[in-house]
Parts: sequence; structure tokens; C-alpha cells
Amino acid sequence: MKELSQLVRPNIWKLSPYSSARDEYSGHEAKVFLDANENPYNQPLNRYPDPLQHEVKALVAKTKGVREEQIFLGNGSDEAIDLCYRCFTQPGIDNVVAIEPTYGMYRVCADINDVEYRTVNLDDHFQMSAKEMLAATDKYTKLIWICSPNNPTGNLIDHDEIEKVLKGFDGIVIIDEAYSDFSGQPTFREVLDQYPNLIVLNTMSKAWGCAAIRLGMAFASKEIISIFNKVKYPYNVNNLTQEKAKELLEAPYEIDKWVRTLLLERERMIHSFQVLPICQMVYPTDANFFLAKMTDAQAIYDYLVEHGIIVRNRTRVTKCGNCLRVTIGSKSENSQLLAALRQY
Ligand SMILES: *Cc1c(COP(=O)(O)O)cnc(C)c1O
Repeated sequence: MKELSQLVRPNIWKLSPYSSARDEYSGHEAKVFLDANENPYNQPLNRYPDPLQHEVKALVAKTKGVREEQIFLGNGSDEAIDLCYRCFTQPGIDNVVAIEPTYGMYRVCADINDVEYRTVNLDDHFQMSAKEMLAATDKYTKLIWICSPNNPTGNLIDHDEIEKVLKGFDGIVIIDEAYSDFSGQPTFREVLDQYPNLIVLNTMSKAWGCAAIRLGMAFASKEIISIFNKVKYPYNVNNLTQEKAKELLEAPYEIDKWVRTLLLERERMIHSFQVLPICQMVYPTDANFFLAKMTDAQAIYDYLVEHGIIVRNRTRVTKCGNCLRVTIGSKSENSQLLAALRQY
């Protein structure tokens, strides 16, 4: 890996961050807070939230098996994705490499930041070639994006190929594990200490059932996390979100049950799709959704919309011609989808 000072945008490397009132004070003795121009009334919402979310991070550290200094919390994973560009890439100069097809936000954030977005197609089994990924890089490549389990394909990317990228690339490798709770496989969080160039993304939006609170996580070396902390908005995670997240992390009993139920439903849905005459194949999945190749994805999508059922039409995505992406819902939602498709 290159030195971080070579990878970080020069202005960000030099940046002295905004110092908020709550940054400058830390400790537990104080009882009178007259430092932040807050209103003393309307407690507890009158107070600014903890800018570094210490209490949430302590719980995340325990749940995820990482140290607090290795955690960044953001307004969804989307904030962490955007921060990767804003911290590491110089607009108009640097580039990034990503698997294709994958999650759309990596490209959108590249476009917003005016950073060249290079893609390397997955093979016919939606697997990545480390060799091809590395061949697509040059001296201006700062980031490599890998999503595993991948969206929209659903499958895990081969662990050994990912390790080859981590070992072979001298920039930052981001592995988005938004769906790892559904895969039952080892996660890259566990090898964080071995790879100083690794950033792993997680989210509360999927298995944790909390898309509405907007809480995304990045795990990385404490050096990378401190760069994120200096660039993020001072109060990027609001207090309602922090409180809800603590509640969930302290009593996560439902999550395993939800995941088990969704995985059983996923099997039922896949088997049911496989016998539909309008379904040509269902791709293997390690997530809470599956990709299905249909006879005519657009027509079936339109038909479902007319019946008030929305799936994701991925037919115009690379290598996903005539594919629909179907999220596993409740038993009743899933059954309604199947009933409608059987009537098609
Ligand atoms: C859904 C999803 C996320 C979650 O994004 P949030 O901003 O945390 O809701 C992240 N990555 C991928 C690949 C996803 O599919």
C-alpha cells in the first residue's frame, strides 16, 4: 500500500477540521452547558448530539467485533461512499475501478465528484477476476469498489479473488458488505487488522430493518477513520438515530429471527420462480433478494405495477438483460407476488 499521505487528496491531508463546541469539551464532570448556543428548553432534543457517537460505537464495536477507533458512522452507507471520494480522489485527475454490474451509488458519487469511474465486467457466473481488476488500475487509481454479496446479482464474490485485489493493489479497497448478515460466511471486518488499505461497509438498512433511521458504518484502520471524521459534517448522525441505534444494538434478538425467516422465504420464492413458465432462471444468491431472468422482464414488470406490486426491473443493467430483482418480503407479500405471476 502507498503511504496514506500519497492517497489522500492533498487539501484534505492538510485540512484542519471545524471544531464544534462538543468536540472541544469532553469529559463527564460538567453539568452546565453554555457553550453551544443551544436553547435550554425542549429537552432532550435541545442538545447537539455527540459528534463522534461514542455510545453507539461502543455497542457497534461489541456487535461487530471491531475496535471503536475502527468505526465511522454516517447518514447511511451513502455518506461513507461519498466520503471515500471526497477524502481520496482528486476531481478530474484520479479514477476508481469497480465491478460491473453493482450498486449504482458508486458511479453516482464518482460522477458528482467528477472522478473517472472504470468498470470491469463480472463473468457469466457474476464472479470477479482479480487479475482484470488490477489490470484496469493505473497510477491515478485511488479506490477499488467490490460489493459482496453483490447488488443486484445477489452472490458473494469469491473470497480468494478479493484477497488478491487487497494484496495486489496499492490504493484503497472498499468492500460493501451491506448484505453480509444474510450470507452466513466470514466477513472482511474480521481481517481489518491485516489490511491497512481495507474499508468495509455495513448498514442498518437491510438485516437490521432500519432503513428509515439512516445509519451506515465504515470499518477501517484508525488512520482512515480519522480522515473521515475530519471531513464529515460535525453532527452527521442525529440524536434520534443514535438513540434508536443504541436500543437496537442492546437488544438485537429479533434480527436473527428475521434473517432466518427471510432465508426460508427466499428458498420458497426461488423454488416457486423456478417452476414459473415465464422464469428462465434464478441466479444463486447470498442476500435477501434474488435476480431472476424472465421471458420478458419489462412486460412482467409493467404487469406487476398494474397489480400494485413493485419489483426492480434490472433489464437495462450490464449482463442483466430480462432480469428482475426481487426482494424477499413478508410471507403474505411474497405470496401476493407469486399469485400475480401465476396469473400472468
Ligand atoms: C442497500 C445498500 C446499501 C445501504 O445503503 P444505506 O445508505 O446504508 O441505506 C449499501 N450498499 C449496498 C450495496 C446496498 O444494496
